[in-house]
Amino acid sequence: MLQIKNLHVKVEDNKILNGIDLHIKAGEMHAIMGLNGSGKSTLSNTVTGRENYTVTEGDILYKNESILDWAPEDRALAGIFMSFQYPTVIPGVNTTYFLRAAVNAKRKHNNRIEYDAANFLKFIKSKLEEVEMDTAYLKRSVNEGFSGGEKKRNEILQLLCLEPELAIMDETDSGLDIDAIKIIAKGINNYRNNDRGFLVITHYQRLLKYIKPDIVHVLMNGRIVKSGGKELALELEEKGYGWLEK
Ligand code: ADP
Ligand code: MG
Repeated sequence: MLQIKNLHVKVEDNKILNGIDLHIKAGEMHAIMGLNGSGKSTLSNTVTGRENYTVTEGDILYKNESILDWAPEDRALAGIFMSFQYPTVIPGVNTTYFLRAAVNAKRKHNNRIEYDAANFLKFIKSKLEEVEMDTAYLKRSVNEGFSGGEKKRNEILQLLCLEPELAIMDETDSGLDIDAIKIIAKGINNYRNNDRGFLVITHYQRLLKYIKPDIVHVLMNGRIVKSGGKELALELEEKGYGWLEK
């Protein structure tokens, strides 16, 4: 599903990623852990095609095709999704309109009938229940006045609505209390199946208690310095990251 080969990335003349190799197959969940500033968000931003993230070497293949020249919206239409570490507030843009426009853009791309207002409301209600959000959120502007936990749940709501094949979750758990983490983990777990791949980025292992990754990678100074099974997350929790530096 996703193949990252010797990826080097610079952001505004700063070299951030220094040769990343990563291979995610359909059905797999990979976790990337690492200290602040190690390059985790840079990696997700690069895969989703954010501007000013320049690939200087290497390649990113999605379903065996290089996507380096693809616009972010084309990557999204093809099934790539990212949940932001810092979700954006969009004042004046109603949450229902925002979600319906996004979902319909994808349905149109896939030659499916677009939702009208009534049908979309039916569709969204079941998704709201999954992340324990009230329908009152739909009337508000996107993320405006939302608490940290509500913003992150709104990201999961977008995931459930857009039905991506490759989901990149950038620190979906940070700043959340344990109840909110459980809701988010439930949303992610229910969404998992053999056709979907996940890249879950996290700072702490506590999210990984509730969602079980197949493989854990440690990112340090823009490189993957170690990969292992679930137990690697526990080892990091216990020993920190210092031992890997050597
Ligand atoms: P992480 O998500 O692991 O905390 P980031 O990918 O956000 O790390 O950042 C990695 C490094 O890249 C940091 O040192 C950060 O300051 C730097 N960086 C990120 N974005 C920019 C930018 N727009 N301009 C300059 N440096 C940046
Ligand atoms: Mg980050």
